[in-house]
Amino acid sequence: MSDCIFCRIAAGEIPAKKLYEDEHVLAFHDINPVAPVHFLVIPKLHVPSMGELGAEHVELMGRVMTTAARLARENGCGEGYRTIINTGRVGRQEVYHLHVHILGGPEVLPAMLKR
Ligand code: 5GP
Ligand code: ZN
Repeated sequence: MSDCIFCRIAAGEIPAKKLYEDEHVLAFHDINPVAPVHFLVIPKLHVPSMGELGAEHVELMGRVMTTAARLARENGCGEGYRTIINTGRVGRQEVYHLHVHILGGPEVLPAMLKR
């Protein structure tokens, strides 16, 4: 997926501030953080969105989520954080490579959605 920005980050073609990387998972700081801690965790496999997940991704997504939890603990989110996966048009997904946002910091975050 040479036209996918997150595949290109995973391939090392575009720089990113990486937090963690292994064979299956990559975590890096969001380029436009909206909280003191804001990083993304992605599967290296190109899955466009949560809408395309299936049974074949169970182990991979387990790796993504447990990596997100560990990195949150290790990066100042011991008192909690918000986990966001935007999906599709309605979810206002901007980058179509599945990613988990972790948002946190010392202060309580704003309300999740405005009514
Ligand atoms: P989405 O709206 O798709 O859930 O969020 C995409 C996120 O990716 C945004 O928060 C945006 O700031 C981040 N992003 C987009 N392009 C890049 C990039 O080239 N590098 C990094 N580190 N983050 C990016
Ligand atoms: Zn991709």
